[in-house]
Amino acid sequence: MGTSRRELVEAFRAGAHQLWLVGGALRDRELGGPGYDHDYATSALPEEVEAIAAGLGAEVVTVGKKFGTIGVLVDGRWTEITTFRGDSYSAGTRWPDVRFGTSIEEDLARRDFTVNALAENAATGQLLDLFDGRNDIRRRLLRAVGEPAQRFREDPLRILRGMRFASQLDFEIEPATLDGMEQTIGLLSTLSQERVTSELDRLLQGRNPGRGLALLRQTGALDVVLPELAPMDGCEQNSFHRYDVWLHTVATVQAIGPAEPNLRLLRWAALLHDIGKPAVRHRKANGEWGFYRHEVVGALLAEAMLDRLKLGRREAVLIQLLIRRHMDRPDPGDRRSVRRFMTRCEGHWRDLVALKRADNASHTYDDDPYHHRLEVACKEAEASDAALLRADSPLTGDDLVAIFGRAPGPWIGRIKQRLSAMVLDGDLAPGDREHAERIARGLMGRHRPGTHG
Ligand code: ATP
Ligand code: MG
Repeated sequence: MGTSRRELVEAFRAGAHQLWLVGGALRDRELGGPGYDHDYATSALPEEVEAIAAGLGAEVVTVGKKFGTIGVLVDGRWTEITTFRGDSYSAGTRWPDVRFGTSIEEDLARRDFTVNALAENAATGQLLDLFDGRNDIRRRLLRAVGEPAQRFREDPLRILRGMRFASQLDFEIEPATLDGMEQTIGLLSTLSQERVTSELDRLLQGRNPGRGLALLRQTGALDVVLPELAPMDGCEQNSFHRYDVWLHTVATVQAIGPAEPNLRLLRWAALLHDIGKPAVRHRKANGEWGFYRHEVVGALLAEAMLDRLKLGRREAVLIQLLIRRHMDRPDPGDRRSVRRFMTRCEGHWRDLVALKRADNASHTYDDDPYHHRLEVACKEAEASDAALLRADSPLTGDDLVAIFGRAPGPWIGRIKQRLSAMVLDGDLAPGDREHAERIARGLMGRHRPGTHG
C-alpha cells in the first residue's frame, strides 16, 4: 500500500509547509501532453520532508538530500520534493553551493527558462506565473528567466538545456536569450563531459533535432562540444547532393523519424555517418569531388570521438558498424549479395537500411525503390532461414532404423537432412511418409550397404 498524493498534500498542510508542483510537469500539461506530477518545491527542510514521508510510511530515497531533494514514492511513482532554493551560484564553479530559499518566488527566479518556471500550489491549486511562462508556452518560445548572459554564466549547462528543449519541444529561442547564449558559448568548455553528452543525447532524440543542430552550429557551440564535426560545415559535395556535408548530415538526422525503434542509435549514426568526408575529399578526373573510402575513415574518427563523449561501449560499436557499412549496396536480385550484406551488418540490417534510407533523403536522385527492394530481399532471406530451422523430415531416426534394419549412426542425420531440404524446396510434402521412404531407399541404394554407418 503506497502513499497517495492526497495524503501527501494533507501532511504538508498539517505541518504548515508549502508544497508547490513545479517544472516540466506543468509545462507539459500546458502543452496538452501526458506526463505526471514528478517535481515539487517546498518550504520544508529536507529532514522535515523525510520525517513527513516516514510518518506516512512512504518509500523514500535520500541520495539527493544534501542538494535539498528527497525522493518519495507517491501513487506508485517516484516524485522529487526539493526545498526552496535561493540564489547560490558563483560564476565559473561547476557545482553550485546549495543555499535554501525562503519563498516560492525566490525559487522560481533561479530556474532556467520561463516555460519551466511555473508553479501550482498543491493544496489550493493556485497557479503562479511570475515570468509570463504560459504565454511563452503558447508562443512556443524559450526565454531565459532574468538577464540571459548572467544566467548562462552562472550555469553554462543552461545553454545546452535551452537547445535541447528547442529540439524536444520544437520551440524557438527568443532573440535576447540567443544573444546571451552566443556571448557565453566558450563557457561550455568548463562543463563535465557527462553533463554535455547527456544534453546532446537528448537533443538528438528530440522532435526537431534539426533545430537543435542548427542552434549548435549557429551559436558556435559545435566548435566547443563537437569540434570533430566542425569541418563538415561548408564542405561542398558533388552534384548528387543538394547540400554541403553539414546540411546533408542535419537532413539525414531529421529523416530518422521519431517512431524509429532504435531512435537513439540511428540518430547518432546519422549524425556521424559522413564524418570521414572532409578528411578524404579529393578532385576526381571528371572535376567532381570524390570521397573515396570515407566510410572507413569515418568509422575510425567516430571511434575516437565516441570514446571522448563517453556515449557507452555498446552504442559506440554499433554506430561505428553502421558508419562503416553505410555505402554497402547489394543487388537485391542476387541472393548471395544480399546474404553477404546481412552477414556484414551482424544482425543489424534493419538499422542499416533505415540509415541508408535517411541518407538518401537529401540526395538529388530518388533511391526509395531500391531500398524497398533491398528490405524485401532481406526479409525473404530471414524467412527462409527461419523455415530451414523449422523444416522437419517426414521420417524420424527411429523410422529409418525400422525401415532399413540398421544400427543408428551418422547415416540417419545425412538422410534426414536431405529429406528436410526437399521439404524446404517444396519437392516433398511435410507429412508425406510414403514418398519420403521411397526417396530414402533411393538414397541408400546409391551407396553400397555397409560402407557407412
Ligand atoms: P524533463 O522533461 O526533461 O525532465 P524538466 O523541465 O523537468 O524537463 P529537469 O532537468 O527535470 O527538467 O529539471 C526540473 C526543473 O528544474 C526544470 O523545469 C527547471 O525549472 C529546473 N532546472 C533544472 N536544471 C536547471 C538549471 N541548470 N538551472 C536552472 N533551473 C534548472
Ligand atoms: Mg524532470
